[in-house]
Amino acid sequence: MQPILSLENISYSYHNLKGETPALSKISFQVTEGEFLAFVGPSGCGKSTLLSIIAGLLEPESGSLSFDTASTVGYMLQHDHLFEWRTIYQNVLLGLELNKNMTKENIDFVVQLLQDYGLYAFKDKKPSELSGGMRQRAALIRTMAIRPDLLLLDEPFSALDFQTRMTVSADIGNIIRNTGKTAILITHDLSEAITLADRVIVLSKRPATTKYELPIHYDIERTSPLSIRNTDVYQTYFNLLWKELSDDLSEPKTQN
Ligand code: ADP
Ligand code: MG
Repeated sequence: MQPILSLENISYSYHNLKGETPALSKISFQVTEGEFLAFVGPSGCGKSTLLSIIAGLLEPESGSLSFDTASTVGYMLQHDHLFEWRTIYQNVLLGLELNKNMTKENIDFVVQLLQDYGLYAFKDKKPSELSGGMRQRAALIRTMAIRPDLLLLDEPFSALDFQTRMTVSADIGNIIRNTGKTAILITHDLSEAITLADRVIVLSKRPATTKYELPIHYDIERTSPLSIRNTDVYQTYFNLLWKELSDDLSEPKTQN
């Protein structure tokens, strides 16, 4: 299948008064339509930098990136960035409002999403009146409202406590899977990556390189996060990825 996004030998360094910080080194990968790809890597290795490059917020220093410029990118971040002075309804319409795209068809689409994701009854509430999980759903609806061709998720669940996180990530994961959206999830949580993604790529410590790639497949439906975690194959995936990640963490610190 034709990839919708393709990166080849992408490198990036930050430059400031203190000097140069290489963040990405020769990153290459492709994403096909409908695929759910996850990246895991140690904190500070360059994960968010990678997403910023894909989103077009940063220009790569070298390498090439191919992504249809007519495509729309939806971005979901660690904090839901819902505005407290707006109702949930006003929040989920924000993207359309900013893009001057408030057509009846688009508004109907958002209302449908609110209904589908069980938030319609809460549409006139303020964000603080909702649970963490509902807020993330609202953030997802706001992102989906612009009908993105590619969803970029930068540790979207890491602000949630452990238990909420497991159910919310499964919930959001299922919604994305059911809509057939192409998604790239960045996380430092191995379990999250293995339960949600079709493929996991392990990044090395900074500057990030792609050091290992693992296709994920289960024979059961991914409806419940616990049933996935109880499979043998989950455990095998976990051990494989854990080994790759901890190799990097246990290396002695080099001076530079
Ligand atoms: P991650 O998301 O994996 O935690 P980031 O991509 O945010 O990592 O950052 C990678 C590295 O680049 C880190 O060491 C970070 O300190 C550095 N960095 C990030 N943003 C900037 C910036 N604007 N200027 C200089 N260095 C930065
Ligand atoms: Mg980050």
